[in-house]
Amino acid sequence: MAKLELSIDRISRSRRNLFTSVRLDRLAEYRDDDEWVQQALHSDSVCFVPLWRNRNLLAETGAEQKAVYLEPGKLEHIDAIQPPTLLGMDDKRYFFAVAINDKQRDELLEQHPGAEFLDLRMASIDIDAKHAGVLAYAKALLYWQYRHAFCGACGNPNRIESSGHKLVCSDQECGRQSFPRIDPAIIVLVTQGDACLLGRNAVWPPRRFSTLAGFVEPGESLEDALVREVYEEAQVRLKGIRYVSSQPWPFPASAMCGFYAEAENRECGASDEMEEVRWITAPGLKKAIMEDEVRLPPPVSIAFRLISDWYRQQCGEDLKPLVRQAGSWRSRNR
Ligand SMILES: [Zn+2]
Repeated sequence: MAKLELSIDRISRSRRNLFTSVRLDRLAEYRDDDEWVQQALHSDSVCFVPLWRNRNLLAETGAEQKAVYLEPGKLEHIDAIQPPTLLGMDDKRYFFAVAINDKQRDELLEQHPGAEFLDLRMASIDIDAKHAGVLAYAKALLYWQYRHAFCGACGNPNRIESSGHKLVCSDQECGRQSFPRIDPAIIVLVTQGDACLLGRNAVWPPRRFSTLAGFVEPGESLEDALVREVYEEAQVRLKGIRYVSSQPWPFPASAMCGFYAEAENRECGASDEMEEVRWITAPGLKKAIMEDEVRLPPPVSIAFRLISDWYRQQCGEDLKPLVRQAGSWRSRNR
């Protein structure tokens, strides 16, 4: 494989991926400090991230969609459904995620003409990258609370503690605690010589090709999962792998761990999961995109990042304008 040298140091590299761009101090040490939380909630520096049915509030501003936050006093009962969840602070504001009900949704939409509650995945193509991380973090935590409303051991309702970061069974005898869950997944661009391997899953939109990916199974390391998935999906044997960067992927609760891998040779084959896999060189990819034969995943995804970094390494060109020019993102995601 051509050596893929990345210009950013290893610690900062994942910050180039969407949903990781805002650095919040998560203030974990204050989550159990009720007095501190109440003060923060009632301070002028508080800022609420509203979620309605797991959708985020976004406003269209020119070419971009921007996160809409609520200032104090914008909603009468911010805790109408459940107590606000402490996300953290940037240099000037405390961020709390709040679930809102249908009536509050109507009020907010009236207060913010041009704003909509959107599925973050659908919205994220043109999203203001800076705050996408705050929205994704809020969405992931509230989704977890919603899906774990009841104790997994005894079935009694859970109550929210630690400012939204812990659930505790309301049955005193049981008292089981649960913490936010994340499902680790690997995602990998396999290369061999001057070509990379792209696959097409039958359930994807027409002509979509992407990297290979899959969930890590119990008892597996990330590396084991990667080798297994690549063989299962494409019948390709690997001889080397390299970790690149990671991305939180709250659809609904994954952590994507991105790798490059080098194949032993170009033998490959379709599988139950992938209806087609193909080796493609950088010039071949360019042609396929221009002719709308291949459509890549949206640029917000780590899959696109892996492909575009490889492409730039191969031919020195940026893939984004090319794909934008081909115009295949927006139309199929709206
Ligand atoms: Zn219980």
